[in-house]
Amino acid sequence: MPLALDPAVKEALAARIRFYRDLGLTQFYRRAVDPQLLVDLEADSQQPPRAPSFPQERVGDHEPLQENDTIPPRKPIPPPPAIAAMTQPPDRVAALRLIREDIGDCTRCALHKGRNKLVFADGSPDARLMFVGEGPGADEDAQGLPFVGRAGQLLNNMITAMGLKREDVYIANVVKCRPPGNRTPEPEEANTCSPFLFRQIDVVSPEVIVALGATAATYLLGQRQPLAGLRGRVHSFRGSKLIVTYHPAFLLRDPRQKKEAWADLQIAMRELGLETPRRG
Ligand code: URA
Repeated sequence: MPLALDPAVKEALAARIRFYRDLGLTQFYRRAVDPQLLVDLEADSQQPPRAPSFPQERVGDHEPLQENDTIPPRKPIPPPPAIAAMTQPPDRVAALRLIREDIGDCTRCALHKGRNKLVFADGSPDARLMFVGEGPGADEDAQGLPFVGRAGQLLNNMITAMGLKREDVYIANVVKCRPPGNRTPEPEEANTCSPFLFRQIDVVSPEVIVALGATAATYLLGQRQPLAGLRGRVHSFRGSKLIVTYHPAFLLRDPRQKKEAWADLQIAMRELGLETPRRG
């Protein structure tokens, strides 16, 4: 004879099963029932009903689960606060602001003497692609933004050719103040300033970095080598892939090398999973 359960006990059992299901436990099995227990239960059923010892839910809220009922997928369980904090997307804007504040009104090297505006960076803190140049020129020094002069125009065209917008990428330089007469930064200047660039790279954490020219390649890779030996392959730097190409200012002087530079950018695009845009 099927076991007749007190409706309140039955509902309490169903509530417990729902509780287990919410925890992700979906496999239940039946143990053979001790016949003595059945006798006890039958004797109990002759007694006036007792208050159930399980927490009560309102009857009618849920149908009690039957053995072969399908169990709906469980709802996502919110992580406890500590884990939630660890899995929050990083606040890159705040982290970059902190780096900018650390730089302050910098006088760490001689370049500050001729500076009008310190050039921190431009673009998206969440960029998958970062460009690193050498240092600000006259236009950048006047505006406080990297690559806004003629070389910047060409860089913008390179970014567009990749099917991206300037706002999608992050752009920074090895040094943040303009070297007099646009000379190459001295090692002392580059080594003083580049730790801030490395911190920016750590925060943005781009998948791919494109080093524009020999100065960027030298200070990112930590070794001086002719550009020819560094181009055409994928290096790695602080968890990002690093590709070396010509500086846009060099390409303005020698446009025949643009084809080579495009080949380098296509390596970057391949690493990012970007398709070459169709020319229309
Ligand atoms: N050249 C660079 O290397 N960086 C700039 O920001 C502009 C020109």
